[in-house]
Amino acid sequence: MTRVVLLGAGGRMGQAVAGAIPGAPDVTLKARVERPEAPAPADGGAPWGHDLGAVVARGDVVVEFSSPAAAVAAAAICAERGAALVSGTTGLGAEDEAGIRALARTIAIVRAANFSLGVLALRRALAAALGAVPASWDVEIVERHHRGKQDAPSGTALHLAREAAERRGYPASALRMGRSGRVGARPEAEIGIHSLRGGTWVGDHAVVLAGAGEWIELRHVAEDRAAFAHGVVAAARFVATAGPGFYTLEEVASAAR
Ligand code: NAD
Repeated sequence: MTRVVLLGAGGRMGQAVAGAIPGAPDVTLKARVERPEAPAPADGGAPWGHDLGAVVARGDVVVEFSSPAAAVAAAAICAERGAALVSGTTGLGAEDEAGIRALARTIAIVRAANFSLGVLALRRALAAALGAVPASWDVEIVERHHRGKQDAPSGTALHLAREAAERRGYPASALRMGRSGRVGARPEAEIGIHSLRGGTWVGDHAVVLAGAGEWIELRHVAEDRAAFAHGVVAAARFVATAGPGFYTLEEVASAAR
C-alpha cells in the first residue's frame, strides 16, 4: 500500500488528487496539509493539518500542488525525513528547480509541469512533427488557463517550447513571451508563447507549426483535473518503491506499462 501525504489539499489540484486516490486500491491518503487560513472541510476524509513536518512520517510519499515557496520547503522536509516526493507546482525559478533536483540525490522525486498522459503524447507528437516539417516552419504556442492561475506562461508551455528549441538547436533566448509594439519581422529562431487567462479553462495547449501557405496545429485540452490526477497517482505508486533519483513522467509511464 502506498501511503500519501497531500500538501495543498484544499486547492484545485489537491482536491482532484484526493478524489482520484480512492479509485486506486493500492494507494491511500493518510494526511492532508493546508495553510492555516484554509478552512478544514467537514467531509470525514483524511486528517487535516497545517504542518507538513508533523505528519510527513505518516506517508511514504508527499504529493504537493501548492505554491513555489511551499514546494521548495516540502522538498527539504522530504529529504530530511526520507519521504519520496511527487511535485507538480509550476512557476518556480531556475534556482529553486535546481535546489529540488539536487535533493534527488537523497530521495526519489517525480517532478513534472504536467502530469497528464495526453500531454506526454502531445510532446511525442510534437517531436515527430518537428522532424517531419522543414526547419523553416515557425513554431508558436498558445496556452489557455483559468483566471486564477498565478504563473504565465504555463510550465507546460515552457516545457514544450524548450523541447522544441532544443530540437531545432535554438538558444534558450529564442523563447518570446508574447509580442507587443513594433517588434519587426519574426526571426526564424524564435518560439512565441501566448497566454490567455479567463473563466474556468483547466489547461489547453496548442502548438502551431506554420509554413508558407499551410500550417499544422497540435493541441491538448484538459477538460478536468482528473486528467492530471491519474498521472499523479501513478507517480506516487512509482516513487514509493524507487531509489533516490529525479524521475520524469515518461519513466513513470513506461514503468506502468
Ligand atoms: P490552488 O491555488 O487551487 O491550490 C493551491 C493550494 O495550496 C491552496 O489551497 C493553498 O492554500 C495551498 N498552499 C499554498 N501554500 C501553502 C503552504 N505553505 N502550506 C500548505 N498549503 C499551501 O492551485 P492549483 O490550481 O491547485 O495549482 C497548484 C499548483 O499546481 C500551481 O502551481 C499550478 O500551476 C500547478 N499545476 C500543476 C499541474 C501539473 O500537472 N503539474 C496541473 C495543474 C496545476
